[in-house]
Amino acid sequence: MINDRFKDMLNEKSVIRSISERASARKREIGADNVFDFSIGNPNVPCPSQFTDAVLDLYSTEPPHVLHGYSPSMGILSVRQAMADSLNRRFGMDYKAAHLFPTAGATAALAHAFRAVTKPGDDIVTFAPYFPEYQPYVEGTGAHLKIVPPDTAHFQIDFDALERTLDANTAAVLINTPNNPSGTVYSEETLTALADMLRAKQREYGHDIFLISDEPYREIVFDGATQPYPAKFYDNTLTCYSFSKSLSLPGERIGYVAVNPRATDADLLVPMFAQISRTIGHNCPSSTIQLAVARVLDDTSDLSIYETNMNIIYDALVDLGFTVERPGGTFYIFPKALEEDANAFARKAMDYDLYMVPSDSFGMPGYLRISYCLETDQVRRGVERLREFVTEVYG
Ligand code: PLP
Repeated sequence: MINDRFKDMLNEKSVIRSISERASARKREIGADNVFDFSIGNPNVPCPSQFTDAVLDLYSTEPPHVLHGYSPSMGILSVRQAMADSLNRRFGMDYKAAHLFPTAGATAALAHAFRAVTKPGDDIVTFAPYFPEYQPYVEGTGAHLKIVPPDTAHFQIDFDALERTLDANTAAVLINTPNNPSGTVYSEETLTALADMLRAKQREYGHDIFLISDEPYREIVFDGATQPYPAKFYDNTLTCYSFSKSLSLPGERIGYVAVNPRATDADLLVPMFAQISRTIGHNCPSSTIQLAVARVLDDTSDLSIYETNMNIIYDALVDLGFTVERPGGTFYIFPKALEEDANAFARKAMDYDLYMVPSDSFGMPGYLRISYCLETDQVRRGVERLREFVTEVYG
């Protein structure tokens, strides 16, 4: 007999994926240039040539058993060391190779982090608006995702709301900065206040509360700013990273978990991740890809297009009367819809071949996520189409 739980999930498919599939179908009908697909966060800038060069060099210099052999279950040691060195250099941390665990992207990093520090029935607390896939990621572990209502002014943290949400059942707090979907970059003040509150709650409840920091957009920060490194603020931090966005490699499935050396049982967690892998069918990422990213850890794609695109869209949204917070990073922007029902707004926009994601599944109805992983020319034309739509339908 097939499993009803997964059968039921067929009716709860990702809204982002289904809108992007509709956009793709429409592209086949009327041509890609005529469809403005602001739905999915799939990097459109190429990976840096250093990555391609690294792969080509590996293929011409390393023997096949090194390139294609099984990775050790905790990852290739030289790769883990290179990851630790890069984080130590950039963020003043003191990771050793033993604290780094290469994973198949942020998805797998989170899968390991959740399981290592929670038991079924525990709560993992996160903040609206949040990446909708957190629901299945967390529910799949047997823990519960508990949502802190948003700070709608700036999408930082509403600490009164957080305090009301935390209780003795809280095993972990999950943050995502820079944030999908709001584009918010948590400030040093926010991270300091968060760390203070979690330390106080650990004392109050008499157990650890882990901070799981999901950081795939860490390098996409605007105005020359940088994302303060959350693990610097709080010892019990598991940093989940992905090269999907910074190196434009989402199809290669490569990321890591970095365990703060000052976390409780820091030296046990990576060996535990290797055991967790056995229970969820994860193997460390492709050996070739581990070796290749280890050579380009401090590089990124040319991420400047996202800032250019953001500015074009932000200015247009403000001009058209949307309520919108200027993103500090990512390739998303999160305006309030022009009617209460963001689903209705998004449906009407589709008549103009504009595809945006209504925010209900992000835990915060009434908004739209606009992703701008597009050529700037397409963004400019999309903005003109948005102007036409808004003027005709809401003008
Ligand atoms: N976390 C967030 C906030 C994301 O936006 C994504 C992907 O879009 C992921 C995790 C998953 O990333 P990956 O492709 O590395 O598995």
